[in-house]
Amino acid sequence: MSSVNPTPLDAASAAVMGNFDHGLTLALSKGRILEETLPLLKNAGIELLENPDKSRKLIFPTTHPLVRILILRASDVPAYVENGAADIGVAGKDVLMEYGAQNVYELIDLKIANCRLMTAGRVDSAGNRQVPTAGRLKIATKYINLTRQYYASRGEQVDVIKLYGSMELAPLVGLGDLIVDVVDTGNTLRANGLAPFDLIATISSRLIVNKASYKRKQAVLSPILADIEAAVG
Ligand code: AMP
Repeated sequence: MSSVNPTPLDAASAAVMGNFDHGLTLALSKGRILEETLPLLKNAGIELLENPDKSRKLIFPTTHPLVRILILRASDVPAYVENGAADIGVAGKDVLMEYGAQNVYELIDLKIANCRLMTAGRVDSAGNRQVPTAGRLKIATKYINLTRQYYASRGEQVDVIKLYGSMELAPLVGLGDLIVDVVDTGNTLRANGLAPFDLIATISSRLIVNKASYKRKQAVLSPILADIEAAVG
């Protein structure tokens, strides 16, 4: 018979579980944003006590006794901050525009994870765009709100297909004529026979704060925000 031996939580982790209303909860997303945000937080005296890549935990204590960090899916960060489950969040401008949070202040452009939100599609060997000229275009994307807004602003009616990832695959197998996605080097598009077409917005990560937390937690928040702002330069 197999048995599971639960590992008891260390004291620092136990201290940041549950109600943390006296302190600040920061929502970050794994990957690029986390990697590029950690050096900025270090300037404000906030460092993770363990490596999230080697842990299955979702709530992390930090070197600052009044700050804990949640590691979330990028697209979930605005919901946590909007609803006050996190006081501060770091999210890409693409994610913020798509979500449309009302209950948050966008306070600092962190100038990290820079990229471009673009339309992209297939090109022939001469580099000409392969886009149908008749009928409504089908656009595959995870940014359905931004895509609808973009084409509406151009007076074009399109059909939008919601995907959750690997958008580059869609036009290759006939799921949509174009995609809307963030592009950095363009290597992923090129590797799949696609090319970037039109720029919708330039993107960087932003620090957002829940409006109520901004008022209620000024004493802890202000020095941290000032240190982060100074680190951004
Ligand atoms: P690229 O460097 O253009 O090949 O980008 C590689 C992949 O990473 C693409 O599929 C993008 O969706 C994604 N990506 C690039 N830059 C960012 C960013 N700043 N934030 C989130 N995803 C990104």
